[in-house]
Amino acid sequence: LRPGGPFLHARRAGYFSLYVTSFVVTLGFLLYCCWLRRKHPDNYNTILPLSVVYSGFTCLWGGGITLLDQLGGGGLNVYTSMVLTVAAFAVLRPWQAIAIFGSSGVLLNLLLPIFQQRTNDIFSNLINTLFTLVLATLIASLLYRMRVFNSHDRALVKAQYEEIQAINRKLNRQVITDELTGMNNRRYLEEVVALRLEENRQKGQPAAGMMLDIDYFKQFNDHYGHLAGDRCLQDIAQVLLQFVDRENACAVRYGGEEFFICLFDCDEAQALRKAEELRCDVAEQTTDNDFCVTVSIGVYTDGSYLEELVERSDRALYEAKRQGRNRVVVFSRITADEDVPDT
Ligand code: GH3
Ligand code: MG
Ligand code: MG
Repeated sequence: LRPGGPFLHARRAGYFSLYVTSFVVTLGFLLYCCWLRRKHPDNYNTILPLSVVYSGFTCLWGGGITLLDQLGGGGLNVYTSMVLTVAAFAVLRPWQAIAIFGSSGVLLNLLLPIFQQRTNDIFSNLINTLFTLVLATLIASLLYRMRVFNSHDRALVKAQYEEIQAINRKLNRQVITDELTGMNNRRYLEEVVALRLEENRQKGQPAAGMMLDIDYFKQFNDHYGHLAGDRCLQDIAQVLLQFVDRENACAVRYGGEEFFICLFDCDEAQALRKAEELRCDVAEQTTDNDFCVTVSIGVYTDGSYLEELVERSDRALYEAKRQGRNRVVVFSRITADEDVPDT
């Protein structure tokens, strides 16, 4: 832009071509970095080797400008500031810093006698570049160590956080799961099913409860042993889980050999039919044993609150046991003649 333009003499042409080269290389470097970040958003490692190349270019470029400065009696300012800037901002391993700074320093000092005729200046430039290069290598190495420690710390904190999250998820699952059968437990009933019932009530839909109890299970245990009893509980749990998969329902192991099922949006006729289906499914599933395992089921329909569903289906279950077991009894039938207090 100065009078005479950039090609007035060789030195100006040199500056001009070095600045144009720097502009083109920097633009290319930035565009390539953007493209890489888009392609591998979480992988900084793809950019690091390229930034080492760009650091080398920057040091050589600073050396080039400095050589031209020498022709006009200038000093080492551009080279030293470029080298120190690269040391502060680029991520260089110590050996990379030594290689880049060392090779650019050697090249600069080899070419220096061509551009600088005064021997005294050549010597002082040699001492100054040496000092700058040692300083830059120290800065780059210290920063590299700090960055490595920081990223290790961050990775460690991230790994620990993920481990704690995984343990929390596992504990949360365990708290609501019955270990033997893998079904949900009573806590799930009280904390999760109660909320679903609340939603059901708000929609004005009726809900039903079924309390199931295995018949003569003590005898089964006495006859086949407790391990066979455990397997039997697991088999029945599978039947119940398959049942709730088909229905709008939740099943939990209520305790011992008792299970509770909550059916949403279900009236009495549907609940009765489903309970009867379930009773047959259980008997079918367990006919492999010499001892056919059956269940008695107490049903209560048209309920809204968990406590009410549990208490009344349990009373119906008691009646099913009293009537001889392996049957379904509905609460409304046993209380038709009784005066049942509202809950
Ligand atoms: P009823 O028809 O009146 O229900 O008779 P029952 O024998 O099933 O009832 P009872 O209450 O007398 O006995 C329940 C049995 O269930 C006793 C207990 O050993 C067994 N049981 C409870 N939990 C488990 C378990 O986790 N594993 C095994 N194997 N048995 C269990
Ligand atoms: Mg029982
Ligand atoms: Mg029983």
